[in-house]
Amino acid sequence: MSTMGDGTRAVRAGLPEPEQYGPALPGPVFAAHFHLSGEPVGPYTYGRDTNPTWTHLERAIGELEAPGEDVSTTVFASGMAAITAVLLSQVRTGDTVVLPDDGYQALPLVREQLTAFGVEVRTAPTGGDAQLALLEGAKLLWIESPSNPGLDVCDIRRLVAAAHDAGALVAVDNTLATPIGQRPLELGADFSVASDTKGMTGHGDILLGHVTCRDPGPAADVRRWRKVVGAIPGPMETWLAHRSLATLQLRVDRQCTTALALAEYLAERAEVTGLRYPGLPTDPSYGVAVRQMRRFGSVVSFELADRETAERFLAALRLVDDATSFGGVRSTAERRGRWGGDAVPEGFIRFSVGAEDPEDLLADVGRALDEAVQRAGGVSDGSARATLLP
Ligand SMILES: *Cc1c(COP(=O)(O)O)cnc(C)c1O
Repeated sequence: MSTMGDGTRAVRAGLPEPEQYGPALPGPVFAAHFHLSGEPVGPYTYGRDTNPTWTHLERAIGELEAPGEDVSTTVFASGMAAITAVLLSQVRTGDTVVLPDDGYQALPLVREQLTAFGVEVRTAPTGGDAQLALLEGAKLLWIESPSNPGLDVCDIRRLVAAAHDAGALVAVDNTLATPIGQRPLELGADFSVASDTKGMTGHGDILLGHVTCRDPGPAADVRRWRKVVGAIPGPMETWLAHRSLATLQLRVDRQCTTALALAEYLAERAEVTGLRYPGLPTDPSYGVAVRQMRRFGSVVSFELADRETAERFLAALRLVDDATSFGGVRSTAERRGRWGGDAVPEGFIRFSVGAEDPEDLLADVGRALDEAVQRAGGVSDGSARATLLP
């Protein structure tokens, strides 16, 4: 498996041995409990412990995270369920955790919760490998690279080496890149964690998460945590996720190619500032990104002059939904500042590139920018926005 291409691996990932008259990917198994007589030994006993539909998806994700290696993956009901499973199964009162201060917007809530449990939390930005300075005495280093929504990149190998020297485990939130964009375990991390709600499943219709580990000890902790808190994915979501993985390489390649084209286009537009895309050779992250990423992701971020311009831009887009989340086949964009959780300027846009034809998407973006800028100063009562809504 380790020598095949990403597309081949994606379409075959996790499929069971062919069975005469059976389907390639067996359907979802809906079962709260399984027939079980005598001694209660697995593999399938009770639906909060184990489910064959999870097993297939977990094998598939493992093959993508670490081709040809024996790793352990645990799927969860959401990305946050996966993230908290790692943190809460690994740390105890009195431990120290290092988080990024520019990561996913729920991390500050996680920080509050950890602090309430008597865990010391230190934070530093992703860019410039600033977390390096905080590792002394830490139990766990949490990395998010590229970071969401700022798209900064840190040198994962370098941070892992320093963390391991300091006796800390390392988890990487790999949501933005997906395993075909970046393989954290190969870069030395102990946990590769993701919200599969995003690019991994890619259709904006399910929530899911996973944790993959090489070391059986932490893997067992994470699996046990899922059983304790019951943060389990439904069989239908799990099966849909597995079905979606078959097109992972097709989707992500298309998204990455168009994302780069969009970034190149936006770089030429005078009204756009603060443009970030790790795959753009002029991006501050590019040098580190090319050394550790295989694909640069579907998200492009940039700033427009102010909140009003950003809102006019979003309202003028016809092929791009004004919605949160990212990584889906339909492009979405949002003014990130509306959530209040991220330290971003009012005109900051997070743009998730879908699978549309690049020329259609770029034309739509260009026209929306023209409209947003032309109307600047002209209309102030919000009526422009209302009439532009589809
Ligand atoms: C969306 C996201 C999460 C949370 O995932 P859910 O599936 O919404 O729980 C965590 N980390 C990153 C980087 C994300 O983008």
